[in-house]
Amino acid sequence: MEFATLADRADEIEAEPADLETASLVAALFTEAGPQLATVARFVQGRVFPAHDSTTLDIGPALCHAAIAKAAGHNVTPDDVEAELARVGEIGAVAASYEFGGQTGLGSFGSGGRDGLTVAEVDDELRALAAAEGAGSEDTKLDTLFGLFNRCSPAEAKLLARLVLGEMRIGVGEGTVRDAIAEAFEVPVASVERALQVSNDYGLVAETARDTGTAGLDAMDLDIGRPVQAMLAQAGTVTDALDAWEEVAVETKYDGARVQVHVGDEVRIFSRNMEDVTTALPEVVEFVEEHVDVPTILDGEVVAVDDDGAPRPFQEVLKRFRRKHEVDRMREAVRVELRAFDCLHADGEDLLDEPLTARHDRLQAVLDDEHAVSALLVTTDAEEIAAHGTAALDAGHEGIMLKNPESTYSPGRRGKNWLKRKPDVETLDCVVTGAEWGEGRRAELFGTFRIAVTDGDDYATVGKVATGVTDEQLADLTDLFEPHVREESGTEVTFAPEVVFEVGYEEIQSSPTYGSGYALRFPRFVAVREDKGPADADSLERVERLAARQ
Ligand code: AMP
Repeated sequence: MEFATLADRADEIEAEPADLETASLVAALFTEAGPQLATVARFVQGRVFPAHDSTTLDIGPALCHAAIAKAAGHNVTPDDVEAELARVGEIGAVAASYEFGGQTGLGSFGSGGRDGLTVAEVDDELRALAAAEGAGSEDTKLDTLFGLFNRCSPAEAKLLARLVLGEMRIGVGEGTVRDAIAEAFEVPVASVERALQVSNDYGLVAETARDTGTAGLDAMDLDIGRPVQAMLAQAGTVTDALDAWEEVAVETKYDGARVQVHVGDEVRIFSRNMEDVTTALPEVVEFVEEHVDVPTILDGEVVAVDDDGAPRPFQEVLKRFRRKHEVDRMREAVRVELRAFDCLHADGEDLLDEPLTARHDRLQAVLDDEHAVSALLVTTDAEEIAAHGTAALDAGHEGIMLKNPESTYSPGRRGKNWLKRKPDVETLDCVVTGAEWGEGRRAELFGTFRIAVTDGDDYATVGKVATGVTDEQLADLTDLFEPHVREESGTEVTFAPEVVFEVGYEEIQSSPTYGSGYALRFPRFVAVREDKGPADADSLERVERLAARQ
């Protein structure tokens, strides 16, 4: 296909305001593209490489402006191009405003004139340009780009400038390309969608749809070494999770960097953006080589740890991630480890459509190291979830993830099946007005504390807190409260209002249970506020305000 034809089609597509019509125009373009279909399917999205390929053109605005200026003639400088960009606001229009074709130079193929660029040629040139490395590569890039611009008509120059800067602006998003492939080759959108998820390559999917139809698309598999988009999480609460699912799978939320580990003939590690970060993480590679024996794709997090294996802050991981130089020196300074929480492929089987619990079972089976596999607690018990959250925070992790145990793996989706539990927004300072004796092992200790906020001269109860306290702390708290006991009846004890707790919570609900009319959802002991007396505790008015703001 001529590059000029693609440029004309791109103009028509840009001029079409309706989404449906846009998809139809793109579909017509795909049918017309012939052998260049894969390239065209990428170019319309401003891509030269498939999404799973982290190769970049590495052409910044300055280089592009310089190439345009050079092709535009002696009296145009890169500054002029920039000034024009500031005036017009868009590089395509700027590139289209010059008359190219008169310049000669290394990249102008000796002819100095226009001689019908093809899509294939532009693709080849840009790929060669991306491969240029080392000293002199900037000059090579500038020359190649100048050579291409020099052969462009205004419409082609507009397309080329936008393509190399990845700013297509023709209104063709991923959904449009998906719908266009389905329309052009008469295949179901769902098959296209699934094929895109497993391959991350619009070009390959378009070709497969055309050449082998639905059967071909449905037969597309994950490929070890070709990363897929990571499944993402939404913010959510324990209440959301318990309301939505029969059971909740709870996991530690690690504060590290997301990785997808592909174990084939060799181990490759990809970042959340599908960038290959293998060389930066040699000990993860070594670990996986030692502990995984079958072809596998793992999803997880790389965390920085101290000598005891306790988590270190996220910033430490960043010192290692993507590092290209001095990897060995930094390996000494910052120790990293893998925490795997999902398994997308194991021993020849794609697992995307399996439920989370089955994938986790496979993960445990393929990764022979208990420490590196994130524990999955499946429960319906809110208290247990809250306790897990506190334990995770206490151990220095970011919090917890709540996952639907039945859910399949949806690459690239920020769906409702994975929830990152919102951290407590604020804490409340509450007066402790009573307690209940514990049970069993804790019978000699106070178990649950009644907490209240001030209401004028009185106290209004807002909940009971039992979570977040260790056995040792409970013993100390029992000693602390014993002098304040006013009354006891059964297991219930009333205290003189003296001690103030700082309490975390997930939300404030209106509730008839307590005198205040409010109840803290999932209250969590944070600390004794030794510096505060009951008069300094939070008021019912503040609780009302916080509740109204939720
Ligand atoms: P956020 O980056 O705040 O959107 O939170 C989602 C991220 O948490 C994921 O992309 C992962 O990198 C990270 N994460 C940490 N632990 C887990 C886990 N157990 N399951 C899923 N994601 C996790």
